[in-house]
Amino acid sequence: MKVCKFGGTSMSDASSIIRSANIVKSDPMRKFVIVSAPGKVNGEEKITDMLINCYETVKKGASCKTVFSKVENRFNNIIKDLGLDIDLTEKFAKILLNIDNGASKDYAASRGEYLMAIVFAKVLGYEFVDAQDIIKFFPDKTFDSEYTNDYVSKVLNEMKNTGVVVPGFYGRTPDGAICTFSRGGSDVTGSIIARAIKADLYENWTDVNGFMMCDPRIVQNPAKINVLTYKELRELSYMGATVLHPESIFPVRRADIPINIKNTFEPENSGTMIVPSKDYVGQNGRIITGIAGKKDFTAIFIEKSMMNGELGFARKALSVLEHYDVSIEHMPTGIDTLSLVIESCNLEGKLDHVLARLQAILNPDHIEVLEHLSMIATVGHGMSKRKGTAAKLFGALYQAGINIKMIDQGSSELNIIVGVDNSDFEKAIEAIYNAFVK
Ligand code: ASP
Repeated sequence: MKVCKFGGTSMSDASSIIRSANIVKSDPMRKFVIVSAPGKVNGEEKITDMLINCYETVKKGASCKTVFSKVENRFNNIIKDLGLDIDLTEKFAKILLNIDNGASKDYAASRGEYLMAIVFAKVLGYEFVDAQDIIKFFPDKTFDSEYTNDYVSKVLNEMKNTGVVVPGFYGRTPDGAICTFSRGGSDVTGSIIARAIKADLYENWTDVNGFMMCDPRIVQNPAKINVLTYKELRELSYMGATVLHPESIFPVRRADIPINIKNTFEPENSGTMIVPSKDYVGQNGRIITGIAGKKDFTAIFIEKSMMNGELGFARKALSVLEHYDVSIEHMPTGIDTLSLVIESCNLEGKLDHVLARLQAILNPDHIEVLEHLSMIATVGHGMSKRKGTAAKLFGALYQAGINIKMIDQGSSELNIIVGVDNSDFEKAIEAIYNAFVK
């Protein structure tokens, strides 16, 4: 069985919806379908954004009738263009009433997926199953994975022959309130359902041909990644590559189910396969899999002679960050030095306090702060046990005249992370790409 999730662009208007339906119908294994709300089209914003706007309007004390009429129009146009015999008037009225009466932001945001799944089920002749009946959250709004897994597998396994469409992005807490994942969360729903029905493959249909080796806004036409492992994907998406919701790999990874990123608008393209490490077949001779990075980090360098002999030094440093509710991204260490690398936005209004407390608790010889730092991760299983990878990477940065301010290599040898000045960010990614790919 295959689970197919279609993103907002694949549902944005009648012609994309017909394309998506043809994809489902072309393979009898595609019996479980998850949809996002219609995405942007002709300068109009995403349905989810319109719905959040409805909620905000009501919060300011007005009725959301006018904003909500845009949502109605989008769906009515889709239904008309598809020639569907379906009338959502009553559902619209109920949703409008609920939002006007103060329904939650999660409720409002989720209604695009809800309506879209009803429409797409009609197009396919599949059954509609509401996500709120099968995806469960705890009262604190964290996802209840085990209960959901058992429940979904019981309910959906019996519907293998019928075909099912489930709205992505949301579920329900025990008190009946709608609860959403974070934005882009329909990817997570798809993964949960793939795990529960023990799918052979989780197909994630989007509007690109898969993961590129680096950001196409930085390097023109970068090579596509044909296959990568869950671990490589974690590294790349954590560092900024955004094709898939970062949490969507966890459910399928538990069941070793591969994910195939596919393009609805170029279905013959093989896309990107994301596989467990054991099924990794390499990158056609390429040493690295991808390069990703993020700007705007701050590094706090702490220096103290004989630091290595001082029991609890790192714990004390980290307790300061914990005290100020600041999470840390990297922690490269030397014999007498410890560096704390933090996303700058997490230190806003807190940096001076953090420094004063580090000074008081650690009594270091020297503390220095480096701001406007970019972190760039070069990722790939192929790098491990291969001589000369680091030399090639650092050589490329040297040739491009880039000063490396920090180096951090994960113990798995899956990545090498370098810190450079924000102003060198794009140049550094291009230099690394050219060194390994061209
Ligand atoms: N519609 C939601 C969003 O725009 C969820 C999703 O598309 O996955 O974030």
